[in-house]
Amino acid sequence: MGTASAIPTKTRNHASIVLKIYDRTVLFDCGEGTQKQIMEAQVSPMKIDDIYITHLHGDHILGLPGIIQSLAFRGRTRPLNIYGPQGISELITHIKNLGYYTISYELMVHEIEGDDVVIYQQNNFLIRAMKMKHTITNYAYKIEEIKQPKFLRDKAIELGVPPGPLFGKLQDGNPVIIDGHEILPEQVLGPPRSGVKLVYSGDTIPQENMIYFAKDVNVLIHEATFSNEYKEKAIENGHTIAEDAALIAKNANVQQLILTHLSNRYTSSETLEKEAKAIFENTVYAEDMMTIIVENNKPVKIINNMNNQV
Ligand SMILES: [Zn+2]
Ligand SMILES: [Zn+2]
Repeated sequence: MGTASAIPTKTRNHASIVLKIYDRTVLFDCGEGTQKQIMEAQVSPMKIDDIYITHLHGDHILGLPGIIQSLAFRGRTRPLNIYGPQGISELITHIKNLGYYTISYELMVHEIEGDDVVIYQQNNFLIRAMKMKHTITNYAYKIEEIKQPKFLRDKAIELGVPPGPLFGKLQDGNPVIIDGHEILPEQVLGPPRSGVKLVYSGDTIPQENMIYFAKDVNVLIHEATFSNEYKEKAIENGHTIAEDAALIAKNANVQQLILTHLSNRYTSSETLEKEAKAIFENTVYAEDMMTIIVENNKPVKIINNMNNQV
């Protein structure tokens, strides 16, 4: 929803990504303008379950006060989870004291500790955070889908399990007893299946760690604030140039690289995209409101990117 770096432009808002995965709606970063952009994306802000903040620079957090206030005005009662690096609790406390309004719901704040940790897990997916290197603490996030193994129906019937609730029990990983014999879930479940994986870098200098973190993912969303000619400036400011992001994508063997966080010195992302593509062909520089659909064993579907529109 936002693809600008420090200063937004007419066409690029501050950083924010909305992800729909199974029954959850999740935000990554919440820069200024996010609540307008989420409406533009036709996602109800009331549906947001969790917000993951990569780091506490203004361009990644300044949309929080607005969203938090609007959800209160809309009468939200469901808790809202906010994850982020150390300092996020203090930030939320300050936000709560702004603007003389009452918050009708609970803000559950989760400060991340550690360098490489799973911070959220449910049946269908998990979210992992890994510390990268920026001018302040920044976490990259990885979303990993957990595909349940296939239930071998014929095998279960062969073993004497009658179709019905016992199937569900086995599918959930519990043994069942049939005629005094124990049937174990692994007898009727196929091999583990790998699901889709996405990584979002937040702001960072190019990191060896990222190659490991983004290994074989379907999508790597990596910041590329500058073009190649500003390599030194990029490192100095804790950022990555397009070429280095492409090198990471290549070495990590990702399926699709998406670049974001464009410096306002550029009126177009064309040069950066070109530089990256010279190293890693499957690259696209994101525009605001770009939408992607990620499914396993299929090319990543990119829609709504102005660059690609005919
Ligand atoms: Zn930034
Ligand atoms: Zn930053």
